Amino acid sequence: GLTSKLQETFKKLRGKGKLTEKDVKDAMREVKLALLEADVNYKVVKDFINSVSERAVGEEVMESLTPAQQVIKIVNEELIKLMGSTESKLKPANNPPTVIMLVGLQGAGKTTMAAKLALHLKKHNKKPLLVAADVYRPAAIKQLQILGNQIDVPVFSLGDKVNPVDIAKAGIENAKKLERDYVIIDTAGRLHIDEELMQELKNIKSEVKPNEILLVVDAMTGQDAVNVAEHFNSNLDLTGVILTKLDGDTRGGAAISVKAVTNTPIKFVGTGEKLNDFEVFHPDRMASRILGMGDILSLIEKAQEAIDEKKAAELEKKILSQEFTLEDFLDQMQQMKKMGPLKDLVKMIPGVDVSKLGDMEVNEKELLHAEAIIKSMTKEERRNPSIINASRKKRIAKGSGTTIQEVNKLLNGFEQARKMMKQFGDMQKNMKKGKFKF
Ligand code: GDP
Ligand code: MG
Repeated sequence: GLTSKLQETFKKLRGKGKLTEKDVKDAMREVKLALLEADVNYKVVKDFINSVSERAVGEEVMESLTPAQQVIKIVNEELIKLMGSTESKLKPANNPPTVIMLVGLQGAGKTTMAAKLALHLKKHNKKPLLVAADVYRPAAIKQLQILGNQIDVPVFSLGDKVNPVDIAKAGIENAKKLERDYVIIDTAGRLHIDEELMQELKNIKSEVKPNEILLVVDAMTGQDAVNVAEHFNSNLDLTGVILTKLDGDTRGGAAISVKAVTNTPIKFVGTGEKLNDFEVFHPDRMASRILGMGDILSLIEKAQEAIDEKKAAELEKKILSQEFTLEDFLDQMQQMKKMGPLKDLVKMIPGVDVSKLGDMEVNEKELLHAEAIIKSMTKEERRNPSIINASRKKRIAKGSGTTIQEVNKLLNGFEQARKMMKQFGDMQKNMKKGKFKF
């Protein structure tokens, strides 16, 4: 599938020291093939590859990432952008009920989705009403009634001899009477797009003025799903798309192209036949599902958010040369605040016993005090804290608006950190000399 193809591509980039323009080009050729094979719309693929390549070649490679990770990062970000960036929520009506009309071809999963959506709303303390407006498909009304019964949501119907427009209108009146705050209208589909169907849907739209018109499309149909979406959108001005059958080995193609082609957000997805197989659509989650590398992505995110790369590299050098000063200590505390508890990071160093680390979290107040204290020191004191005697401590406490106890606490903390740094530095040196083996 798409996921394994992309992973193959990224694997080839792994282990490379530097990315050349040719590497990017080769990788992009493979990403392109993988996307096309997953049935992503050709024009969407072309634009996607262009924007990724432009960024990959032009952008500075973060020092914390390998070139391969950097490419993954860009592909991921562009995928998210393509699929709409953020979650797209239902727009509630100013005056309830909020009316949601589900449209789509026969077999796309409208009736199932109507019930899934009702269940989702119910879980969020809403009171939905299902309206059976498919009067053509045999047993369509019965199907909705059975599903409604399963989730304990009322189903409004007038049988199959009444015009769908009138059913929809009566359904909304019924919702007001029953004080239901959402109305979900299940409409009829056809095997193929036809004008009669489209006219009927337009009539319902103009009579009931739904707050949401959501197109239900079968994700398994790939490019076809996109064509269907385009056609429904030009006739009905959709407010959103719902992708069904995104389970099993469904290719991600439809998810990637629908938003790009129709400029209509994907709001929900169906991932199976059961009524719980339903998800709110999150572009970022879909992207990591497509890329199949959630772990790497969160690692990249963490590196990106937290670490000031140059500083980290300088610090490492100082640790190794054991020139760790109070100024570095302050820097380190500032970095730590950004990165979260030091413990979490130290845990990643092999051979460190976390239980011996104690509480190493840094709070805002401590950080401000530490900064004030260190700034009240002379250059010499910062570089060589062992000269800080009692009278110097008094002066520093006064200058920083803190107490002698706080100055002592900072100096002790620094001493501990320096010891740890030294141990870590020795460990690395010894490793290089081959004295230790893990
Ligand atoms: P409608 O004609 O658009 O109303 O489609 P239905 O709701 O009747 O669904 C058609 C078929 O697709 C049924 O057999 C459903 O069980 C199945 N179906 C619906 N949604 C999903 C889904 O997300 N995944 C899978 N695997 N099957 C689904
Ligand atoms: Mg149906």
